[in-house]
Amino acid sequence: MTNSTELRPIIGVSACLLGQKVRFDGGHKLDNWIASTLKSEVDFHSICPEVEMNLGIPRPPVQLQQIDNQIRMISKKDHFDHTENAITTAQRLILNLPQLSGFILMKKSPSCGFERVKIHNENGELLPGVHGLGLFAAELKKAYPFLPIIDSGRFQDLSHRENFLRTIFIYHRFQNITFKLSSFQEFHQNHKFIFMEYHQDLMRGLGKIAANTTNENFSEKYLEYLELMMKMLELLPSKKNRVNSIMHLFGFFKNDLTSSDKKVFMEMLENYRNDLIPYLAVLKLLEFLSFKYQKNYILKQHLFNPFPKALMKGQ
Ligand code: SF4
Repeated sequence: MTNSTELRPIIGVSACLLGQKVRFDGGHKLDNWIASTLKSEVDFHSICPEVEMNLGIPRPPVQLQQIDNQIRMISKKDHFDHTENAITTAQRLILNLPQLSGFILMKKSPSCGFERVKIHNENGELLPGVHGLGLFAAELKKAYPFLPIIDSGRFQDLSHRENFLRTIFIYHRFQNITFKLSSFQEFHQNHKFIFMEYHQDLMRGLGKIAANTTNENFSEKYLEYLELMMKMLELLPSKKNRVNSIMHLFGFFKNDLTSSDKKVFMEMLENYRNDLIPYLAVLKLLEFLSFKYQKNYILKQHLFNPFPKALMKGQ
């Protein structure tokens, strides 16, 4: 469980992924991991855009068609054009969203699909190699350009899933910064080493923004920081950056450890580099050393617990 209700993010989810029978054929697309494991650590706000468009259940399926250089949502059966209804419904739903920290959308859907949604010509024939995003997903992205969004296809890839989980909890902590300079700078301090896993230069860029923030320019710098941070979090941490981050942290123990302790640690890091042990094992050793030698600055780093442990299940 998360430590406090304050740290419990709200995540938007396509309703069919939670097992709700809202699909055009009256079925669902239950994802057990989302509906049970993820549910234990976040609150959900579920939406089915097509039900909200009053298309009914079951309903004739729709598809995206490229007509006069525009993407339209057309009924496959009677060719009725649902585009205006889809867009105004999406805008209404988005206007009424609670403060979300992320969104998981059903893959390939003409409403919810976030990438690789098939596009057809006006005769309903598939346009090979042409892909887009669903109309609800497009409006969501337009309204919330920084919101972490993933589709259920990419969510099956464990490294993308892990990155999404890390990102929603980082974003959620950022959303909870009270408008106080000290809490903004504390946020940066406590995420420094997790950011280093992504990109050293961008992490330094964030450090500069945090250091140059004053009470007078707070709103402007907060937005500048958010934009750069979310751009950085779209990357996946590389092994090279992780080793680098660990080596920086290890420097804090240079006066505490014997040379044989240091040798054991370096061997462990080498094993991680060669895929012989998981990254988590190195982190755990570093966390243990931080407890042992009372390195409070390191223990505050979100690197060790980027998201609740319960979400490690099935990773
Ligand atoms: S993909 Fe979206 S529109 Fe389609 S059933 Fe699921 S929630 Fe509804």
